[in-house]
Amino acid sequence: MFHFRSIAGGVTAALPLPALHASHGGCWLRDGAGTTRESGKGEAIVAAADTPLLLLNAPLVASRLGYPDLSGLDLLELFSFVHPAQFVVPTPKGLAQALDLPVPGGDEHVPALLQQTAEALLAQCAAPDWPAREGAWTALQSLIRLRWSWAPLLTVRIAAPAKAERWLFSRLPEWEEVAERPQPAQVVLQREAVAEQLARLTGSTAESRPGQVAYAQEAANAFAPRSREGLPHLLLAQAGTGTGKTLGYLAPASLWAQLSGGTVWVSTFTRALQRQLRHESRRAFSDSGPGRRADGSQAVVVRKGRENYLCLLNLEDALQGGFTGRAAILAQLVARWAAYSQDGDMIGGDLPGWLPTLFRARGIRALTDQRGECVYAGCPHYRKCFIERSVRASAGADLVIANHALVMVNAARGRDAGQRPTRIVFDEGHHVFEAADSTFAAALTGSETIELRRWVIGPERGSKGRRRGLSARLADLASYDEAGGKAIAAARHAAEALPGDGWLQRVGEGMPSGPIEMLLGAVRATVYARDESGGQDAGYGLETEAAQLDGPLIELAGAAQTALAELRGPLIRLGVRIEAILAEPPDWLDGPGRARLEGARHALGWRVDTLAAWEALLDRLGGPADPSFVDWLAVDRAEAREFDVGLHRRWLDPMQPFAKVVLEGAHGVMLTSATLKDGDDWDSAVVRSGAPALQLAPRLSSFESPFDYASQAEVLIVTDVPKGDVAALAGAYARLIEASGGGALGLFTAIRRLRAVHGRIADRLARGGLPLYAQHVDPIDTGTLVDIFRDDPRASLLGTDALRDGVDVPGHSLRLVVMEQVPWPKPSILHRARRLAGGGSAFDDRIIRARLAQAFGRLIRSRQDHGQFVVLSAAFPSRLLSAFPPGTPVTRLTLDQALHRVAGSVSQMPTQQESDA
Ligand code: SF4
Repeated sequence: MFHFRSIAGGVTAALPLPALHASHGGCWLRDGAGTTRESGKGEAIVAAADTPLLLLNAPLVASRLGYPDLSGLDLLELFSFVHPAQFVVPTPKGLAQALDLPVPGGDEHVPALLQQTAEALLAQCAAPDWPAREGAWTALQSLIRLRWSWAPLLTVRIAAPAKAERWLFSRLPEWEEVAERPQPAQVVLQREAVAEQLARLTGSTAESRPGQVAYAQEAANAFAPRSREGLPHLLLAQAGTGTGKTLGYLAPASLWAQLSGGTVWVSTFTRALQRQLRHESRRAFSDSGPGRRADGSQAVVVRKGRENYLCLLNLEDALQGGFTGRAAILAQLVARWAAYSQDGDMIGGDLPGWLPTLFRARGIRALTDQRGECVYAGCPHYRKCFIERSVRASAGADLVIANHALVMVNAARGRDAGQRPTRIVFDEGHHVFEAADSTFAAALTGSETIELRRWVIGPERGSKGRRRGLSARLADLASYDEAGGKAIAAARHAAEALPGDGWLQRVGEGMPSGPIEMLLGAVRATVYARDESGGQDAGYGLETEAAQLDGPLIELAGAAQTALAELRGPLIRLGVRIEAILAEPPDWLDGPGRARLEGARHALGWRVDTLAAWEALLDRLGGPADPSFVDWLAVDRAEAREFDVGLHRRWLDPMQPFAKVVLEGAHGVMLTSATLKDGDDWDSAVVRSGAPALQLAPRLSSFESPFDYASQAEVLIVTDVPKGDVAALAGAYARLIEASGGGALGLFTAIRRLRAVHGRIADRLARGGLPLYAQHVDPIDTGTLVDIFRDDPRASLLGTDALRDGVDVPGHSLRLVVMEQVPWPKPSILHRARRLAGGGSAFDDRIIRARLAQAFGRLIRSRQDHGQFVVLSAAFPSRLLSAFPPGTPVTRLTLDQALHRVAGSVSQMPTQQESDA
């Protein structure tokens, strides 16, 4: 039994506190007197309910114990308070390394580490040199009121400051307005100059990396002056892993930016590459400190969609009562982070990915500007706003690092034409098609339409918060301009036809309200009547094509179309009024007011386009299909629970709008990747670049990987694990992971099978000292899961699509990739249409080879890496083997033989320490 003193439900300052650690291998409790012992799950749950225990990642411990209500003194919460915006891998080892404590040798030593960690973090708060002291006392006063479990322990250690301290809003710097850049000079990059720039960046000579030099010189062609309007230089460059493509294109890009005074955009698909680029580019573009120019301005800027950044106004609202309970504590910890954050990026930036999951709340989304409700200069924090700062910094930057979706959105509806990207390098170019597919899609669904209603009307039925509708955001315009005021009132009235709170339930119960909900009700009924995807029993989403629809549904579509048009009309009129006011500004319209109207005009344009796309989709339901599009009806579900209903439209070839919107306006575009073409065939890569839409012949070049795949890797195709036998599949995974001693990445095509396999093997592996983590099982975000995997060479990770090419783990931590089966594409309605247009089974084969190539690409990341790629599929067609790099040995064999080879190969590999040495 533990001994502690409790005051009003809190904890006294008496240390050490009892601690609990639970893994798949068991549970360990340590009391205040320093004795650790193994316990059963039941005893651990009782102990945690009885006493606030020290824990590391409470939701994870709760899931290990199978007791969701578990709470305690979570060291990760304390860490985020004491060291805001500081990276840590949220494991015992990660914490120990971050705090310079001894790394525990096994599970049984973890509770002692938890106590040491608590002591170290609390001691830091009392230390005079605590770097994050500013603002801590003020935040703590709020956290005491919120009864945060750590507050009583911190109160005695954090002294009140002698004078009022600066905290979040006063601590953040204001951004500066920057002068508009003149248009870039026309320059031609000389081959020698590019090679010299590359040598400067890599510190090596041309002889040592001839492939990279040739690649850099090829990339320079994308920066040449354009000869014809609407026809950019388009370069497709395949570069095998290890070519050094990042610095390869940064060399000409930085040289061009320097000589021309223009901005280059480098676009990525994954956060892992964005992180790497942030790091590498600062060397290429800086002449005074990392990423900064001599005048202190930023040469390199990372730019993301606005929904990634913290909105300070939303945060203020959350801090002032908008959030309650645990979410209010999260808001305080986010405020601590914001005061120390580099750029306010909440998704993949320096906000720890694990922080939101500790609170099991969706609060984070409410702290960003998801719906474009920004009031710009009308916001008291406008001059400190992270989003506005990043927009301004990117306007004057030499290099903007962005993602594919943002580049496309910016080209399609950027706020400022002068900021549209004109020189673009799409790294991970094989994902441009996918990004274009979602960017140019239309979805007339319940969740999309309710968002629009809220954007127009604002909060209804006493909902809390500062969110405001159009009339509140444009109150001054309405009082000044009668026509504008009338348009706002008409829009508000028309928006009432859109679904409101509770729509999903009403639609599900057959009691829809208003024309759009009635349409959604009919869509849902049709989907349930017609779906034959096999998803009904599995709990997956359901869909049916938009063809041969019944008369009543088509009538409802007509009524919905009318309702949408009635909303679009006043929004267009309002946009026209704003244009007129901006053209002839009244006296009261100062600079900030103008900025706000420009922001509103931009947001309106985007809504009007969305409404027009929805109307076009509805318009065709009764008539013949438009061959440019694929339309279908869907009920989105997760584990049999419905979460959205609606109609969807995708371009059959999304590269057509991409070509119009992105390519036509650009001067130079490069698509590069290790997996652009299919074997030696460029055809599909050219089609998927958008070139045919502009009758453009792209420049094609290919660079072989310098790796020796024949000796560094092998592909093992296991032929005796029966398809559909989950027990056999799980057994194969467990034995392979044991044979390799961890370091395995397991890739699945279905979440259900992933969970089934994980459930069967995680405990067994943990008892052997081999931790197993899994997407869709562990309550941890994907980025953090990869960090954990990278940090522990004995850990293994199971996951689905996002891990297939979002993982860059060089070295010993990743030495085995296991695919459960051939990654066939999901036979959806969209896929069926593209397959038909793209050559039938040859189309499928191209997709599968690309997926295999991407997955294989995770294995060998450097010349020192060794590893095996296992596919558990007897029926692995030989025509897919060209997915692997030339020279890679491929063997078909039994599981026992594969285990033998994996164990043999691992025993010959250098350990992490040896490779580091
Ligand atoms: S300017 Fe807009 S996005 Fe920025 S803090 Fe204010 S409301 Fe939020």
